[in-house]
Amino acid sequence: MKVLIVEDQKRLAEFLRRGLGERAYTVACAGSCSEARNALCEAHYDLVVLDLGLPDGDGLDLLAEWRRSGFSEPVLILSARDSVQDRIRGLDLGADDYLPKPFSLEELLARVRVLLRRQTSVKQTLLQHRDITVDLLGRSVQVAGQPLELTSREFALLETFMHNPGRILTRTLICEKIWESNYDVDTNLLDVYMSRLRGKLEAAANRPVFKTVRGVGYQLL
Ligand code: CA
Repeated sequence: MKVLIVEDQKRLAEFLRRGLGERAYTVACAGSCSEARNALCEAHYDLVVLDLGLPDGDGLDLLAEWRRSGFSEPVLILSARDSVQDRIRGLDLGADDYLPKPFSLEELLARVRVLLRRQTSVKQTLLQHRDITVDLLGRSVQVAGQPLELTSREFALLETFMHNPGRILTRTLICEKIWESNYDVDTNLLDVYMSRLRGKLEAAANRPVFKTVRGVGYQLL
């Protein structure tokens, strides 16, 4: 995980760099708005720790600029400005957390962990394989950039395959996942659903999407 520290007090920046570095984060420091802008243009960061009082501008303007340009990774504001208004303003502009100075390193590290964990779980709600994207939160599917309508059963089927791209899934395993039942599902029903899902996907993708492994199951190509 890469963290960018935007902080103009050299000693504090160094303290943070060491503290985060010891916990196996990769850390870069920027001492001004312009250095921070350059750093974000040149590399990807998973999280930014942002001071507000910077020599060449205000960290809040930097934050607003990043959010407008689509930067969506977590930003934690670390600032001596700690009035309620300051915090609200920071959060409204797109900060994910606000820690007033002076702060404890342990607390900062705990908040960084929370933010990164949250971000990771958000990311895992999007499943992607080749030109197929399944959004588990929005319950939507896109094929080659176009939305595709699926019934809830078809969606569940596709989700199962998207968690296991390239793997041959047996009929029994698929039926267990989709019907979650202890009774024997008529596996002909599975073939009916598979052929509908396959028809929709292959029409949208304009290529074979599934392989039938005779007597065994199916494979997402
Ligand atoms: Ca400062």
